[in-house]
Amino acid sequence: MGWVQAAAGRLTALPSSAVHTGFALLLAATAAFGRTITLESSNLALVWPAAAIHFLWAVWGLRSRRDTVIALVAAAPVLAAVTLMTGLGPALVAGVILGSAVQTLIAAHLFRRLVPGLGIRTVGDYLRLGGIALAACSVGALIIVGASALGGVASPASVFVPWIIRHAVSLTAIGSLGLVLAASISARATGATAPELRVGPLERSLIAVVSVALYMTTFGADTALPIAYIAIPVHMWAGLRLRSGWAMLHGLASGGILLFFTVAGRGPFQELDGGTAAYVAQSFMFIAFSLSAVLALSMDERQRLIAGLYRAHEEAEASAALRDLVISRMHDGVLVAGADRRPIFQNEMSARWLGSCITRPAELWRRDYDVTTVNGEPLTDADDPLTLALQGVVTERLDLDLTHPDGHVVYLSVDAIPLPDEHGAVVVTRDVTDERMYQRDLGRFASVVAHDLMTPLTVFDGWLEMLEDPELPVAQQQASVARLQQASLRMRNLIRNLLVYSLAKEERLAPMHLDVTETVEGIIDLRTALRGKDVPLVRFHVQTAHPVYADERMFLQLVENLVGNALKYGRTDGTAEITIATSMDDASGRTLISIRDNGIGIPEADLERVFDDFHRAENGLGHAAGTGLGLAICRRIAESHGGSISVANVPGGGAEFTVSLPAGPDQLPAGVAQADADEDSMAPAY
Ligand code: ADP
Repeated sequence: MGWVQAAAGRLTALPSSAVHTGFALLLAATAAFGRTITLESSNLALVWPAAAIHFLWAVWGLRSRRDTVIALVAAAPVLAAVTLMTGLGPALVAGVILGSAVQTLIAAHLFRRLVPGLGIRTVGDYLRLGGIALAACSVGALIIVGASALGGVASPASVFVPWIIRHAVSLTAIGSLGLVLAASISARATGATAPELRVGPLERSLIAVVSVALYMTTFGADTALPIAYIAIPVHMWAGLRLRSGWAMLHGLASGGILLFFTVAGRGPFQELDGGTAAYVAQSFMFIAFSLSAVLALSMDERQRLIAGLYRAHEEAEASAALRDLVISRMHDGVLVAGADRRPIFQNEMSARWLGSCITRPAELWRRDYDVTTVNGEPLTDADDPLTLALQGVVTERLDLDLTHPDGHVVYLSVDAIPLPDEHGAVVVTRDVTDERMYQRDLGRFASVVAHDLMTPLTVFDGWLEMLEDPELPVAQQQASVARLQQASLRMRNLIRNLLVYSLAKEERLAPMHLDVTETVEGIIDLRTALRGKDVPLVRFHVQTAHPVYADERMFLQLVENLVGNALKYGRTDGTAEITIATSMDDASGRTLISIRDNGIGIPEADLERVFDDFHRAENGLGHAAGTGLGLAICRRIAESHGGSISVANVPGGGAEFTVSLPAGPDQLPAGVAQADADEDSMAPAY
């Protein structure tokens, strides 16, 4: 329906001079029409649609003071011309002009005050327009009474009621239709789609045919049967089924037929005298029109409200679904419980720790876990955060330890707040196991650093003091120097490890084809030389025929750490065996390097965690000094090459570490930073 929008757009874009001209022409036409529809028995106009046109002109003019003035002033010559030409005396002409101007001014002013939307959208708007029309037309009627008295009309007061009826009816009926039409035109001009019709074309045609038939038979009959009321149902039908604009149009068209027959002296009112018949007919028409208009407006209103309600409902549902989605995906557990402790809402995480049936206090937390406070005391029902929150007490960051019968522990931080008006409580649980572990590892690291850096320094001081003694025998001097060198080596190792660890992630790779056997044998030679003669021999088995494509320095560091650990946590009684072998991973085509020892092995619970920063397994603590960084470095190196590292215990004792690394350049991860690549192409993509 593009042409409708185009036509509406053109209408709303008309220059104001064209609109004024259009209104002036319409006013002239409707005034002339009103002056021709008079009853033979009197010179009174039966209808006065000009009142509505004048009102609509003024309402349109409300957009600026200038347009208002034009709408009021320009009407004067038009009305003067029409009324003079149709035989009214000068006093009455002046009365019509002044009465119309004052009445229109009052109506437009009141309409702006009482109906700020300047449109008829609700029953209230329509009724307000009716009231405004009555008030404004009463003033117009007073003016015409005055003018009639001046013009020598025999009983001037008798024109009062006819004027009100003529003008108020026309202003309300045609005025409301005009306003609905104008609103529809400006809505279409902005591209709004036409509101849905309540009826299809068949029912619309049926309403039209039935109405015409009914009006023709009722009001066109040449006997005065008092059956005007049978037209009422058709107005109810139109009002309930048509949209307000169409229902108003239907009311006006029916009114037109009614007036036509009444003026022609037919229908139920034919036996009344001319003036009375005219105004009875007009009142009938107005009531029928208002019935349709009020019904249609209230149906429109209802339709709008229902649509709004559906929209609001859909929006509420969508936002509730979004909220549920967000909360269900949260890593924190959220439980909303009613005052009776029954869960109103609980996400998956919360149910995991609390269980979903928590009606009795003892059942909270106690599903599978043993719940204790950080001091190791069992959580009592009275201290339970949900119980407290239901009593109005806020709990903040309560640390609880949940121990599962299988031995694993979950550390939780719990917040609980009462809902307003004692409606229940919200309990938020957060898994802080990782943080707690990290803190523990950090504590360990601090003690490692303190031990490995501070102890050597203390040793330094002691031996340096001894060296100051000029009497010290040469053999002892040499021994002190040797210890000093050992202490400094330990410190250097720790510092180097820390550096390597932080660089392993950031540094660019310079990958190349590497001979694994050469690397491994170099490390073994060096290690063997360093161990000295009094340490029992370790038997090495090397089967490393597969290629590796990696950064040479990092690969060396990786193998060095793993071989170093195999020695550190291996047997010390002369039966130590270390096997270093390579194979091809059939699934990925990568090279797998495995380093196996027959040493102390790793406790099951630590198997995954030995790769975490600073993590050291309990059984290794007393066995050898370390920082807990070596395997974290290995993991970083493997991952920076797109590979991985894992560990398993060897049946019969010992651990076997397996690292996957690229066998060729095509197996490097996409976008890996390569030190030897073209600088420009590898620049970070900011
Ligand atoms: P560090 O050896 O300095 O403690 P690592 O990160 O190299 O640190 O190793 C972490 C922990 O893993 C060690 O503390 C030890 O408990 C365990 N571990 C590593 N390698 C072995 C191994 N070959 N056998 C047994 N335990 C090992």
